[in-house]
Amino acid sequence: MSTTLLFEKGRVYPMSRPPIDDGALLVEDGKIVYVGPREHLGTVGGRGLRRIDLGPRALLPGLCDSHLHLMETAEWQDDLDLLGCECFDDVRNRLGARVRRVPAGRWIVGFGWEREKLFRHQPPTVTSLDQATSEHPVFLVSKDAHSVWLNSLGLRALHSLDRLPETCAIDRDERGETGLCFEAVLDLRHLLVPPRTAQAKKRLLGPCIRGLYSCGVTAVHSFGDLESACLLREHMLQGGDRIRTLWNFILDLDELEAQRPMLDEVLPGWFHRGNAKLFLDGTFGSWTAALSRPYVGREDHGLLNLSREELQHALRRLRSHGLESAIHAIGDRAFATALEALMAVGGGFDGHRIEHVQLVTPGILQRFDLRGLHLGMQPSHMWGDRELVRSHLPAELHDGAYILADLWNCGANICFGSDAPIEKPDPLKGILAAVHRRVGEDEAWNASQCLSLHQALEAHSTNPARLPRAPSAGELRVGLPADLVVLAVDPQEFGGSPDQEPGEGWPVDLTFLDGRCVYQR
Ligand SMILES: [Zn+2]
Repeated sequence: MSTTLLFEKGRVYPMSRPPIDDGALLVEDGKIVYVGPREHLGTVGGRGLRRIDLGPRALLPGLCDSHLHLMETAEWQDDLDLLGCECFDDVRNRLGARVRRVPAGRWIVGFGWEREKLFRHQPPTVTSLDQATSEHPVFLVSKDAHSVWLNSLGLRALHSLDRLPETCAIDRDERGETGLCFEAVLDLRHLLVPPRTAQAKKRLLGPCIRGLYSCGVTAVHSFGDLESACLLREHMLQGGDRIRTLWNFILDLDELEAQRPMLDEVLPGWFHRGNAKLFLDGTFGSWTAALSRPYVGREDHGLLNLSREELQHALRRLRSHGLESAIHAIGDRAFATALEALMAVGGGFDGHRIEHVQLVTPGILQRFDLRGLHLGMQPSHMWGDRELVRSHLPAELHDGAYILADLWNCGANICFGSDAPIEKPDPLKGILAAVHRRVGEDEAWNASQCLSLHQALEAHSTNPARLPRAPSAGELRVGLPADLVVLAVDPQEFGGSPDQEPGEGWPVDLTFLDGRCVYQR
C-alpha cells in the first residue's frame, strides 16, 4: 500500500516562490502532488494517509551542502577529533587518551587544530608532540587542512619518502624543523599513513550520510577522488543510505584520458558527475592564499599554484574532454586569475564554478559580468576568518572579504556549503553568518554584505540545483521527488536571533527523501 503524506497548518517554503503562511503539501508515491495554500487543497482522506501537523514548525525542501568532502568527512569522523582544542594541552590530553588504545608503531591521525589557538603563546616544536607519544608516528591535520603537524617518528617517515608532493613545504625555525608541513596534506597522508581498505571506508559512509540527514541535508556537491566516488556509488547501489550527489572530481590531469570514461557512470537521480577540481592557491590561516598585496609583516603574497597561462592550459585540456572546472580560489589574486583565465579560454563562465572566493580585489567586479558562473562559498568560515583577515591581511583588502551581496548582485550563482570535514556539515551556522555577519553582541562585519534569510536559504536549495546535472531540485513543486525537511522552528524566528551559538545545531525534526522518512528527532 502506498502512503500518502499530508503536511499542513504551518509555513511552507517552496523556495522558488514566497513562503505560504497556512500552507499544505501532499505527497503520493514519493512525489509532490500538491503544494499551496491549505484552503485550496480540498478534502484529502482515505486509508494510508499520514497527516503531519506543522504548527509552529516549517516545511522546506531538503537542503544541499554544495561543498563538502564526503569520504574525508566519513573518515575523519573516525580519526582523533581535535576540533575546539583551545591550547596545546587540549591536544596533548586527547592524544594521550588515544595513545593508550593504539598499539605502538601504528599511526595516529588527528584533525581540527587551529594555528591561532595552539601557537599563540609558544611556537610549534617536534618535541612538544613527542612528549605526548614517542612510540606512535603522529599526523595531525589543521582545521583548514592545509597544514599538518608531525612528531619525530612522523618526520622520520616523511624523510624516508622518495620524494615529497611538489607543493609540500617543510617548516623550519632557528632550532630546525618544527614538525609542521604546509600544503598537499591529503597527498602526504596517502604517502605516509596506510590507507583504510575500501570495505572499511565504505562502512563509514552510512553513519556519515545519516548524520547529514539529521542536519536537514538531502543533497551534496562532494569533492573527492575517483575511488571515493566509486565507493559511494557502490554503497548506494547495494542498498546503503542514499544522498543526491553531484561529484566534483579531484583528478590527475595526466591520467584524464584513462579516467574519463569512469566519470560518466551515473546512478540516475542520485549520483551524477560534477566538475573537475583545480587548486589555484591555499588558505589564509597557512599564509598560502594568493593575495594581490603581501601579508602583514611578511614579504610574500601567498602561493599561486598555477600561473594564468598554466590554468588556461588546464582549462583547455578539461574542455577537450567535455569537462568544466571547479577552481579553488581563496585569495583575491587567485580569484582574479581564475576569472581572467576563464575569459581568455572563451566560452564564458557557463557551467564553471569557483570555490571559496573569500577575498575579492576592490573594483574587480566592475570588469566582469558573473552571470553563468557558480560560486561555492562557505559563510560558516567567516567566524574564524574574520580574525585572520584582521591580523594577516593588509587593511586595503579587508572590505573585499566575503562580499556575498556584491557577488550575488553581479549575477553569480552563489551556493553555500560547509567544506566538511573542515566545518560540521550543518547549514544553520553558515546561514546565520551570511544573514547577520556577527557573533553575539559584536558589531556586524561589513554589514552591507549581509544576505536576506531567503537568499541564504536559496544558496542551500535552488541555487545548487542550477549546476549542470545537479540531481536535486532544491524546491517544492508538483511532480518533484518529495525531498523535505521539517524544522522545529520557523527560520524567520531564527532570523531574529543572531545570538544563537554558531554550530549549536539546526533544529531539524524530520527529513524525507523520496517521501520516505530518513530522520526523526
Ligand atoms: Zn573543500
